Amino acid sequence: MSIAPLMPVYPRCGVRPVEGDHCHLIDEDGTRYLDFASGIAVNLLGHSHEGLIGAIQAQASRLMHVSNLYGSPQGEALAQRLVDKTFADTVFFTNSGAEAVECAIKTARAYHQHDSGDNQRTELITFTNAFHGRTMATISASNQDKMHKGFLPLLEGFRYADFDNLDSAKALMSERTAGFLIEPIQGEGGIRPASDAFMRELRSLCDEHDLMLIFDEVQCGVARTGKLYAYEHYGIAPDIMATAKGIGGGFPLGACLATEKAARGMGFGSHGSTYGGNPLAMAAGMAVLDAVANDDFLSEVAAKGERLRGRLEQFIGNYPALFDCVRGKGLMLGLRMKEESRPFYVHLRDNHQLLTVAAGDQTLRILPPLVADDAEFDEFFEKLSAGAASYERAAA
Ligand code: PLP
Repeated sequence: MSIAPLMPVYPRCGVRPVEGDHCHLIDEDGTRYLDFASGIAVNLLGHSHEGLIGAIQAQASRLMHVSNLYGSPQGEALAQRLVDKTFADTVFFTNSGAEAVECAIKTARAYHQHDSGDNQRTELITFTNAFHGRTMATISASNQDKMHKGFLPLLEGFRYADFDNLDSAKALMSERTAGFLIEPIQGEGGIRPASDAFMRELRSLCDEHDLMLIFDEVQCGVARTGKLYAYEHYGIAPDIMATAKGIGGGFPLGACLATEKAARGMGFGSHGSTYGGNPLAMAAGMAVLDAVANDDFLSEVAAKGERLRGRLEQFIGNYPALFDCVRGKGLMLGLRMKEESRPFYVHLRDNHQLLTVAAGDQTLRILPPLVADDAEFDEFFEKLSAGAASYERAAA
């Protein structure tokens, strides 16, 4: 047999972490890496946060799992916390980002198809280069052919407009449109924030035509941009939102948040998940919100983001042949490169023990744990500078 026991869907690299220490990962051979990837925007409290570890340990020893057949004091408490801190009135807990987006898609469809609704409105308009996950519905929601290959037929009901282009979005609207699904800041697509005007116009279109505005904040949400959720930067709110990654701080947890109106089709029996909202996940989510959902923490992230951005902008000036620009918000930053970012990401990882993430549109993602300190930011710049210098030398 030649297939590996671990299904070979990931092109895994030689870094094999076995331990975490604040913003560092330690490989099985003892090599220390500076982790400015955070498990792709997951480990927002780093790798050894006492509050998060303690909460999971305490809950694990008390009660790990019960069925959603029973009442959930833990789920009610975390849902209430999210409701208090966001636009939402109600929350469905999931185990991942894709499941949270799935629930968001179902909620938007059910909004129109509920008892007295409009069964025609089944289509969501999504945007080019979006990434919403790897389930059948979420790959269907993305226009990226590389994710579709081998998995046809796609789920019906998605149309792809150009990202950040209102005319393109309007041109796809019809009596079949149920709403829009968008990442306010595209992550995998290359750390591309949608413009203020575009987001506000989408909100107005939804209000005018009674459509659902769904934000996928799986990557940009949970304090990453210096606000609890990125939509707050735009001065508008969605009807439905998917969140995951950072919300569990490393424990698998996601959620679909909705207003009361948007959730009108999600009655008894309409949706479910065996593990969704289990007590262990709720403890993790609560510990994360305890740490990040307060003004002090959020303004610190915003301030760190400003400083990091300023230093990156200065830094790229030294390497005009390598880098194009810095973009993003808070601690969700991208270095757009003059060529493909992947070789540089590999170079930083293998030669300078610096972990970042390659993304679309020639962008290197910089996603430090939100708790990274001054010494870790200094170490980042030492590694990045050394990496850029050796990369240029090697190319010369
Ligand atoms: N949506 C966005 C914006 C993402 O970045 C991701 C993952 O990278 C997902 C959805 C899917 O999340 P998961 O991998 O937890 O299913």
